[in-house]
Amino acid sequence: MQNKLLQVKNLKKQFQVAGGMFEKKEFVNAVIDVSFEIKEGTTFSLVGESGCGKSTTGRLITRLIDPTSGSITLNGNEVGYLKQSELGDLRETVQMIFQDPYASLNPRMKVKEIIEEPLIIHTKLSKGERENLVLEMLNIVGLNTEYANRYAHEFSGGQRQRIGIARALITKPKLIIADEPVSALDVSIQSQILNLLKKLQQEYQLSYLFISHDLSVVEHISHEIGVMYLGSIVEIATKEALFVNPLHPYTKALIASVPVADPLLRRKKETLKGDIPNPKNPPTGCTFHTRCPIAQELCKLEVPKMRQITEQQSVACHFVEKIEEV
Ligand code: SF4
Repeated sequence: MQNKLLQVKNLKKQFQVAGGMFEKKEFVNAVIDVSFEIKEGTTFSLVGESGCGKSTTGRLITRLIDPTSGSITLNGNEVGYLKQSELGDLRETVQMIFQDPYASLNPRMKVKEIIEEPLIIHTKLSKGERENLVLEMLNIVGLNTEYANRYAHEFSGGQRQRIGIARALITKPKLIIADEPVSALDVSIQSQILNLLKKLQQEYQLSYLFISHDLSVVEHISHEIGVMYLGSIVEIATKEALFVNPLHPYTKALIASVPVADPLLRRKKETLKGDIPNPKNPPTGCTFHTRCPIAQELCKLEVPKMRQITEQQSVACHFVEKIEEV
């Protein structure tokens, strides 16, 4: 039985978007009520359309931003409300890989300085020890050690993302938050980086929170998946259950929109109708009711609770048992 590394419970993040001392304040709920857990050595992915709150959830867990309410526990310890001065251990244990390998690496620093920086901040290792670790890490991510003295702009997108991965791994973290780590890369390079992440996971028992809008990428790397819509998780399932038998109407529509190469296997096309509602003024009840093909009166009135439907699948929908073919 794998240990739970991360547990997120009823996490909420509200941003003030307008108003001030003399004006009425306006808020937007970027994350409304998010709960999930990640076991050691596994990948949990968050998927959903842009603006659904998946990246905000990642930033809350790394404490780049503070939660409004809810709980984030790492190895059983609450980290959601630590002060900035108490975040040292968290910064070592949880690292991020960013979406854009072009923007996330400092162009004025050499590769060895970029990878070494977290060791300077978080450890007391000597210069020689740090240099040895940097060279070892370049090898681990498949980069020539001779690249250590070059600058990031001299590399391709895939190589830069390898540098980003080396930097994230250098403090030997337990959990990596990977926010759209391959979406800026060519498709051929995407699979190289995904395979590298899988290999590193097996070798170092890493856990990943993988954030992506791309279900075909998520299918490649996940053990469990949470589908987000307007700040809430609407379905959590193992990868196998989600792709074979998606239950929530939103998950069904997302999976139906993934292109399938073989025309004989072409999925029933059920595209999403309408736009994602404005999070400043979300629909009442089930926030998906304005786009849901099977919405009923109750859906406008009552927020559906997350319910476990099978051992592998939990869904927030009033009528999930009645869904036969959406
Ligand atoms: Fe559709 Fe209603 Fe289920 Fe929401 S609760 S997904 S609107 S059927």
